Amino acid sequence: MNAKRVIADLRELAARTSSPDGAQRLAWGPVWRDARKWFRAKIAELGLRVETDSAGNNWVTLPGATAKTVIVGSHLDSVPNGGWLDGCLGVLAGLEALRMHAGTTPPVTLRLVDWADEEGARFGRSLLGSAAAAGSLNVDDVRELKDRQGTTLVDALAENGVTLDTMVDAHRELKTIDARAYLELHIEQGPVLESMNKSTGVVLGTFGVERHMIRFTGQAAHSGSTPIPMRRDAFLAAAQTALACREIATRHSRPGAGVVCTIGVVNVEPKIVTAVPGVCEISLDQRALDAGVLAVMLREAHEASAQAARDNNVTAEWRNLWRIEPRPFDPALLRLCEEAVREETGDAPRLPSGPLHDAAEMVPHMPVVMMFAYSSNGLSHCKEEDTPEAHLETTIRAYLRLVQKTIAHVAQR
Ligand SMILES: [Zn+2]
Repeated sequence: MNAKRVIADLRELAARTSSPDGAQRLAWGPVWRDARKWFRAKIAELGLRVETDSAGNNWVTLPGATAKTVIVGSHLDSVPNGGWLDGCLGVLAGLEALRMHAGTTPPVTLRLVDWADEEGARFGRSLLGSAAAAGSLNVDDVRELKDRQGTTLVDALAENGVTLDTMVDAHRELKTIDARAYLELHIEQGPVLESMNKSTGVVLGTFGVERHMIRFTGQAAHSGSTPIPMRRDAFLAAAQTALACREIATRHSRPGAGVVCTIGVVNVEPKIVTAVPGVCEISLDQRALDAGVLAVMLREAHEASAQAARDNNVTAEWRNLWRIEPRPFDPALLRLCEEAVREETGDAPRLPSGPLHDAAEMVPHMPVVMMFAYSSNGLSHCKEEDTPEAHLETTIRAYLRLVQKTIAHVAQR
């Protein structure tokens, strides 16, 4: 078990695929292909080879004494100007897990996966490869997607030997694997572990998300001549709703079971300094690990928007943008993860994942757990993304312990 070697690999990959602005492994592009070429050479050193499924996901198989399989992995793609750890930490820690067993027949089959286009940074669809493998990708939803240069997703895929319409065959391919566990190591990408001064965390699951637009419609009017009580100010209704939603999230947060909500978009019309806003549209993104809590938060947000509309003599209309249910991780794997983290660090803080991960797509299909590494200043998706080297080493060791424990656990059943 060599955590330092994983860090050396990460630095080598970063040097090869970054500019002074950060990592440039944008999915389906030349730098990403180069990262995968580098990875293929690392795999070849172990006498193994990379196989690509119908969705462009890369797989390496180390056959074991049984077909029962433990899967490790994450993604090599990055956002433009991204960090050196997001995604590749999990792939390269997985590579080390393979190295530990290469040349032997482990008690169970070990597979490493590098999911294609986790970030969705170029075409706007995150978890593309893992969703295809999970059978949750509707190809018609993404057929028309284009990047900023006007290149279609269909053409970008074709450049990489992937056909959109047959991407979903990856699901059939996944089902041929007797998958008993999926283990993903990732950086936290937030400030929670840092605030506790802990190197490593046990991830309980990924948040469910309710994402909506709320459109308030009142009446645009002259800002000098219209007395305040006679206005139908759509912005004030939106603002009142935003504050109420924060209050709702604060009320439902529990220690170890935080929830969040964000108003990320505010559009007003007519957007003139001398006009009362007649229309205001806001986005609302609510997240929680508990499906019941999320449902109550959504209902309360509806009630708050109706109240704000009444108070300001405007109307409120909701439009759903996207939703996903919470994906809690497997209890048995959570116990193993907790043991591994505790043995390595003396403690095992548990936290939910706010961001989605490829792991979330695997939850309906196999037992899943994730482990998080400390993120310096809570930053990710930028060149400042970092983890102190000692914390990184500790976390990699804890993850490799988890892999060993899971192999033993799966072999016994
Ligand atoms: Zn990631």
